[in-house]
Amino acid sequence: MRNILVVGGAGYIGSYMCKYLSKHGYQPIVLDSLVYGHREAVKWGPFFEGTMSNADLLNRIFSTYQVSAVMHFAAFCYVGESVTEPAKYYRNNVSSPLTLLETMREQKVNNFIFSSSCATYGEPLEIPISEAHPQHPINPYGRTKLMVEQMLADFGNAYGLKSVSLRYFNAAGADPEGELGEDHQPETHIIPLVLQTALGQRESVSIFGDDYPTKDGTCIRDYIHIADLAQAHLLALEKLLDGMSGGQYNLGNGDGHSVKEVIETAGKITGMTIPSKITERRAGDPAVLIGSSQKAMRELGWKPEFASLETIIETAWNWHKNHPGGYVS
Ligand code: UDP
Repeated sequence: MRNILVVGGAGYIGSYMCKYLSKHGYQPIVLDSLVYGHREAVKWGPFFEGTMSNADLLNRIFSTYQVSAVMHFAAFCYVGESVTEPAKYYRNNVSSPLTLLETMREQKVNNFIFSSSCATYGEPLEIPISEAHPQHPINPYGRTKLMVEQMLADFGNAYGLKSVSLRYFNAAGADPEGELGEDHQPETHIIPLVLQTALGQRESVSIFGDDYPTKDGTCIRDYIHIADLAQAHLLALEKLLDGMSGGQYNLGNGDGHSVKEVIETAGKITGMTIPSKITERRAGDPAVLIGSSQKAMRELGWKPEFASLETIIETAWNWHKNHPGGYVS
């Protein structure tokens, strides 16, 4: 069985990736600081508590297990916080992965899959966004993701590192089997906030602006199910292990939904009234973000299976109603 080091494997997307890897014959080895991750979500292989900035710990893992590839899901991901606390973001999202990549080089581990982001594109010049779109991120979070992409390209040229950067649009949904889901502290993402409101845990959902140039005035995003993200990671992994040198791929559904549509759809699925109120725009929110994922479909053979907003929200609702307090409940 091939070992895959999953950094951030106790988090929302990383934990599902571990389950998916295990189902497909790989052994995930989790390294997670548990700052945001959940110990309860690590079930499919060995667990090491720590960060990828700890070269001694990485060396210990690499000398204990023959690792075929590393997947990195351990970036901090709050855009607003990245503006007020950039040092935290450059430390965790840029400096720590540099230690990981240097240690991989020393240990001759040559395959890397990176969770990148549509935030690397910044304000879109055209929709849908393809991989050829210029990358001009507008916040420190997006810049940290782009810096790692650039580091990967340079390590590829100089040291032969093979890497795939997967640029996610809005990751959403929960394990279709109901075992794993989204439990962020604090929660800032629209779908869990809407579902917590449906559960009565919040009084109302704030809609950040209804004066955008969109059909109903609210922002449009391309929501992509975590199971479809996991599928893309596995395909990319198998291509790398088969000899592909690497690349960058968008992962989205090529279809957008407004904030109002998300709230309406969640209302139908939950059967609950979901109160909402219009508030100020949130800084740094483009009106529309929709990705073209033709390249991932063509080159990786990626076929999203949970593309509809209804399915995304249904799986998320199934998790939230059974875990009203998150992993602790
Ligand atoms: N949003 C909102 N109210 C909230 C949280 C988010 O209206 O309480 C909007 C946000 O402005 C964006 C969309 O929902 O247009 C998705 O935001 P989220 O934070 O989930 O993901 P992001 O697009 O920032 O990655």
